[in-house]
Amino acid sequence: MNQPNLLAAINRPGRYLGEEFNAVVKNWDDASVRFALIFPDLYEIGMSHQGLQILYHIINGQENFIAERCYCPGADVEKLLQETGQPLTTLENAHPLAEFDALGFTLPYELCYTNILTVLRLADIPFYTADRTEHHPLVLGGGACSMNPEPVADFFDAILLGDGEEAMLEIAATLAEAKEESREQKLALLEKISGIYIPSHFSVTYSGERVTAIKRIKGRGELPIQRRIVTDLDNIDHLKNPLVPNAKIVHDRLGVEVARGCTRGCRFCQAGITYRPVRERSPQQVMELAKTGIANSGFEELALLSLSTGDYSCIEQTLAPLMDMFADKYISVAMPSMRVGTLTPTIMEQIKRVRKTGFTLAPEAGSDRLRRVINKGITEEDLLATCSDAFRFGWKLIKCYFMTGLPTEREDDIIAMAELVRKILATGKATKADFNQALTKGGSPQVNVSVGTFVPKPHTPFQWQRQISEEESLARLDLLRKKLPRKNCNLKYHSPKISWLEGVFSRGDRRLAALLVAAWERGARLDGWREYFQPTLWREAAESLNMDIDSYLRARDMEEVLPWSHLATGVSEQFLRSELEKAMAESYTPDCRYHNCQQCGLCDFKTIRPIVHNRKKNLAPAESTLTPQKKEEEQHIKYIVHYSRQGKICYLGHLEILQLIFRTLHRAEIPVHYSKGFHPSPKVSFGPALPVGTESMAEYFIMDLYSPLSSIEDTQKRLNATLPRGLAVQAIERSTKIPQKMLVDYQIALPFIIDGECQQKIDDFLAANSFLIQKIRKKKNKEIDIRPLITKLEKRDKTTLFLQIRSESTLPGAKPTEAIESILQLDNKESQQLKVVKEKWQAV
Ligand code: SF4
Repeated sequence: MNQPNLLAAINRPGRYLGEEFNAVVKNWDDASVRFALIFPDLYEIGMSHQGLQILYHIINGQENFIAERCYCPGADVEKLLQETGQPLTTLENAHPLAEFDALGFTLPYELCYTNILTVLRLADIPFYTADRTEHHPLVLGGGACSMNPEPVADFFDAILLGDGEEAMLEIAATLAEAKEESREQKLALLEKISGIYIPSHFSVTYSGERVTAIKRIKGRGELPIQRRIVTDLDNIDHLKNPLVPNAKIVHDRLGVEVARGCTRGCRFCQAGITYRPVRERSPQQVMELAKTGIANSGFEELALLSLSTGDYSCIEQTLAPLMDMFADKYISVAMPSMRVGTLTPTIMEQIKRVRKTGFTLAPEAGSDRLRRVINKGITEEDLLATCSDAFRFGWKLIKCYFMTGLPTEREDDIIAMAELVRKILATGKATKADFNQALTKGGSPQVNVSVGTFVPKPHTPFQWQRQISEEESLARLDLLRKKLPRKNCNLKYHSPKISWLEGVFSRGDRRLAALLVAAWERGARLDGWREYFQPTLWREAAESLNMDIDSYLRARDMEEVLPWSHLATGVSEQFLRSELEKAMAESYTPDCRYHNCQQCGLCDFKTIRPIVHNRKKNLAPAESTLTPQKKEEEQHIKYIVHYSRQGKICYLGHLEILQLIFRTLHRAEIPVHYSKGFHPSPKVSFGPALPVGTESMAEYFIMDLYSPLSSIEDTQKRLNATLPRGLAVQAIERSTKIPQKMLVDYQIALPFIIDGECQQKIDDFLAANSFLIQKIRKKKNKEIDIRPLITKLEKRDKTTLFLQIRSESTLPGAKPTEAIESILQLDNKESQQLKVVKEKWQAV
């Protein structure tokens, strides 16, 4: 899917190019096992996912194994592939998925399930495992949804429960040894690996809406199947050479996982159970990974990742040295998942040193009563104290995340959400009065409220609770909207319709596979995206199967067989039941990270135990050791860098190229000035944007440096070593002068032979004094006379033209494709096939 003719015809071609910095392209023929790792959502979501990248590098770290990547394509590409009969391929070597030994799907959330079907169909692999033959790759799954994969179980040959880093290499080694074995034999061997579940080895029986029994019918092994747990994060490979996307993605930054697991014990939280116990990475390794990751990627942001980063016991000791390491390089440090009470003034002080990243709080519920039910462990007083600190440190906007539909929720809990928002705004005003100098001038405190509908998840204390209906959810949101303050407050909510479908699949069983196929066949795609989700398709699909899908939202009987009963997280059911009882009694369960073991049943305290590096959390925070270095601010040394862009990379947009150059400068350690202000950015100016798809031998940018380059030759080498394939620096010169007026030469290859009729059109154009074309500039229709702008147009050979355009920076210009399209009166298909190369420019 990266042929130029296809790339020219699709939205956001950057999604399909590959060629990312640090992508691993290996020799196909040298490998004993080849995996296609697939993220079943669009590139911008999938590339933001750490898990897939970690496995990608772990597999490729072994000489004999290959891992390539594939993401779910957008609707336009799906259509195009079907129309042209081309298969979906990987980004690295453009191999069709069906040629791999195994496909490894990440299962990150329930609403990507139809995307799995899209990928399988485009790979020409049957949906159902029962329909696959010896020639098809094995289809494997793993990830957050693996602890109840039953709705998609019939599509997967094997599913890994739990952590993948160690198991993935065991899977690869097993498949390498079993290369000549039958499919069934391979599955039997895989089943011996701890954490592997083979769905076809089990049968499920039902009565009405309930599962009545889950029985093993093949294979062997302990029941329930236990989740795989990596016991110590310091012993496994993390990202040292992270993939650097070429296209814009959702989380465009370096992520370093500081800890896995959270034992705060929020009773609604599935991850809080399925990633236990807490395993912290050592602060030394966090520092090392941050340093090498940033140096090898050029990212401008480092995110310290975990389910609750503020709970990382060494956070205060780690943050100041990290900021010291990065602040003068304008690299910010973000902690995306912070919990009230862990956002201390010390942490806030550090975060704001480079950029004030978002300040999001998750009270989850409006009232202290409901927060006791869910074991949130924070009070209104804690929340307001944190907000006060945030306002004091200069934040104006607080984002609050709530849920509606939590067990025992009442009308007064909804009203309490609105009251809490009022109190936060009042705190902001009071803080502003007390610390006027700290708040940005003239800015009023602002609260953005975001509300989702609670979805009961498997393996949590609330797994037996009912989910409220879409109508109930809308009514509660309506009440909240009426009660919220009108000024300085915005309400956003996650679509209750989407939460309804998430609820169906979260606690669903194998019968839902038929629903997925029926909805997919009706056109259901990318269901997690509000703009693509079509609830009526799901209703129609359910009707066609005579299925009551709303019944999946019902409360479960405490004694009934749950569809995931044969899969174990390691946390005992007895613990979940007792947590449910404690929820109803509004009773608190402390965090075992800093308190005693709460007997959840997981740890054996020999191999599996919490790893906490600073249990007392009473060490003094590390002071910044940075002596502010006085940069030679007065020196502004400018260089012009001439570079070429060729091949697939020319399908990136102008902004994407800019980002890519900024990161290359970071990686090559070029000392560039930064702009001042809230979001400092490198002082680099670029030439005019080149149309997407145009190759060029004559691009340039000007960089503003603190000091002269010691060696231009060495700088050119360093830049070329860190540029992605397709971009190359041709020359660097000390200059600031870019002419206002220039002549630009283009070579244009036509998709047809220049015959007499075509030549006549060229001659007519050259003979004319004026040639008006209608074009859109800055979203407005404009009439441009291109005749005076075109100084040369001539035939170079039988299918190639030479075009010279006069360009003036202050006047609207002519684009080569637009000009040729109008002069030769080309149709859409012909203009998409034009191959344009910008050859050179010269001052006039
Ligand atoms: S067994 Fe104890 S220490 Fe281990 S995760 Fe459960 S509560 Fe925490």
